[in-house]
Amino acid sequence: MTIEVRNIVKEFGSFRALDNVDLRVETGELMALLGPSGSGKTTLLRIIAGLEWPDSGSIAFDGEDALARGAAERHVGFVFQHYALFRHMSVFENVAFGLRVQPRKIRKTETEIRKRVGDLLDLVQLGWLADRYPNQLSGGQRQRIALARALAIEPRILLLDEPFGALDAKVRKELRAWLRNLHEEIHVTSIFVTHDQEEALEVANRVVVMDKGRIEQIGSPGDVYERPASAFVHSFIGESIVLPVEVLDGRVRLGERVLDLAPTDAVSGPSKLFVRRHDVAVGPSGTGVLEGAVKAVRAFGPMQRADIVLNGDQGDTLIEIDAPRDHSLKVGDRIGLQPQRYRIFADH
Ligand code: ATP
Repeated sequence: MTIEVRNIVKEFGSFRALDNVDLRVETGELMALLGPSGSGKTTLLRIIAGLEWPDSGSIAFDGEDALARGAAERHVGFVFQHYALFRHMSVFENVAFGLRVQPRKIRKTETEIRKRVGDLLDLVQLGWLADRYPNQLSGGQRQRIALARALAIEPRILLLDEPFGALDAKVRKELRAWLRNLHEEIHVTSIFVTHDQEEALEVANRVVVMDKGRIEQIGSPGDVYERPASAFVHSFIGESIVLPVEVLDGRVRLGERVLDLAPTDAVSGPSKLFVRRHDVAVGPSGTGVLEGAVKAVRAFGPMQRADIVLNGDQGDTLIEIDAPRDHSLKVGDRIGLQPQRYRIFADH
């Protein structure tokens, strides 16, 4: 099932939460809506689900107007950040719930329901917990059960709102891989909301980056990481060093100095150079377009993170870089720095 979102606008009072959002999700995709808090992700998901109505714009499922239908008629499965399991029902009954309340015409027999719930519990690999109650489950198990429950009615679309948001880092990581594998198996068109960059890049096959109610970029995880479309996307996905530069006559200037760097895109005038912390090559003094002194060094996972003071004609600038651990960096060393992969965006 495809989802086509066209020109969606949603205002709360005078605040515009969604500002002309356009988006197409292909059949069987697992798409991430990624953005900072308040960027409009949840509002967009709720509008697609039928839990919220837009002020204008359209939504179509497989070309059919979805806004003409209420939430119950859209055949959408929904999983929230906070497990919405019924506390007084066993795991089995929680998963069976959606099947039991289906209209009589299409309701399954008890034998069929038992078979379907058994299959779903197998799918989320938690068949052994069928008789437990939600308070006897871990947070990760509850979310897997919530997913099984959402899938019970065979939704045409699956929407997940920060499904792992309330879980600790280790469980989150496990569930990411799990969700990706599960999706490979069931192939339901799915959208999940996250503000976690790593989660979006690791799980989704396409990522929608949102900011302030607008879509900044839609692309594969590789695209949004390697080819960010805007300064916002560069900084939001991965950690960027940002330096004020000026592009004049096709040359990049930092203060009075002309840097031996090619301007990217068609920028000119006051601009900002963006480079990821690990994309700066470090060498002896005099080897890069930037000069600096090491102020502090600390171990940072497989890398070392160093504070570098860049000396410029307009004063000193402090930046943080990540260098491989085997690279000798000592406090007080003078070094040369060369941005490897960088982007220059116009300064608005
Ligand atoms: P988070 O990651 O924090 O959940 P989000 O990107 O999902 O953020 P939304 O929940 O969609 O953002 O909210 C977008 C904006 O709309 C926020 O500024 C929020 O305060 C506002 N908003 C959302 N729902 C309402 C409402 N019912 N009434 C008023 N303002 C609202």
